Amino acid sequence: MRVLVVGSIALDTVKTPFGEVEDALGGSAVYFSAAARYFAPVDMVGVVGEDFPMEGLDFLRAGSVNIQGIQRMKGRTFRWSGVYGSDLNERETLDTQLNVFADFHPELPESYRDAPYVFLANIDPTLQLNVLDQVRGPKRVVCDTMNFWIEGKRETLLKVLKRTDIVVLNEGEVRQLVGESDLIKASKKVLELGPEVAVIKKGEHGALMVSNSGFFFAPAYPTEHVFDPTGAGDSFAGGFVGYLAQGDAFDEESIRRAVVYGSVMASFNVERFSVERLKALDKKEIRERLQAFREMVRVD
Ligand code: AMP
Repeated sequence: MRVLVVGSIALDTVKTPFGEVEDALGGSAVYFSAAARYFAPVDMVGVVGEDFPMEGLDFLRAGSVNIQGIQRMKGRTFRWSGVYGSDLNERETLDTQLNVFADFHPELPESYRDAPYVFLANIDPTLQLNVLDQVRGPKRVVCDTMNFWIEGKRETLLKVLKRTDIVVLNEGEVRQLVGESDLIKASKKVLELGPEVAVIKKGEHGALMVSNSGFFFAPAYPTEHVFDPTGAGDSFAGGFVGYLAQGDAFDEESIRRAVVYGSVMASFNVERFSVERLKALDKKEIRERLQAFREMVRVD
């Protein structure tokens, strides 16, 4: 089953205790697609400026990602810059420049409009809504967002959530969205906004899935080589949605397994800057890490 994704395509400047990169390939749609393509074909929607090096997307094109829905507009590409201290769970955004995103009106190619799975990656909720309006009866809609939009575009975001089946947020975003500090109570309140399932990412502490029928918790895979956490959330979503689309199943067990695949893909992503690690993976490595993950949580 194909997955349509709309999100940012970015040039990121990132500093961590292990080094820094300037204008590196990033953005929520890029990290998502780089991970999801190992499970299902992806149709990308987004915008880049004249300064964007299109060859940076060649690895996606070669790996079952359709980039026909990416527009190239006059102006500069979206830019984001952030810095991490010794606690890699804490990051400070130094700069967000919307640039071409400020005037972007997504126009979906005809072949995208019947997409069964839609992932609304972190981007202006107005654009998320706009894309949703152009898709004819998707089977499942999964949505992400961030503090920037919860603060700045709350009403539009609530409209998006009404049309969402699964929302994927980090801890801080859940609390901010519903104004409740207890995470379980906060997650239940999120379910009242529309989604059937909330997946809450807790950085190096794993991910919690909450639905009206219960909870599931998966730890993060404890990789020793955390280099740059940027894109962990989006690559988690890539593994998660990609796996659901691959099996075209939405039962509790499939969603649990999808959470684990999400954790596996995020654990690879953080081992290098930008999408370097996700670029070079193979399916055998993914299977092996899944196996190691199983061992890690096995109890008799
Ligand atoms: P994550 O670490 O998963 O939260 O995602 C980081 C990615 O989100 C970076 O590659 C950024 O380019 C992108 N990003 C940061 N701020 C925004 C924003 N306001 N809208 C869309 N994408 C963003």
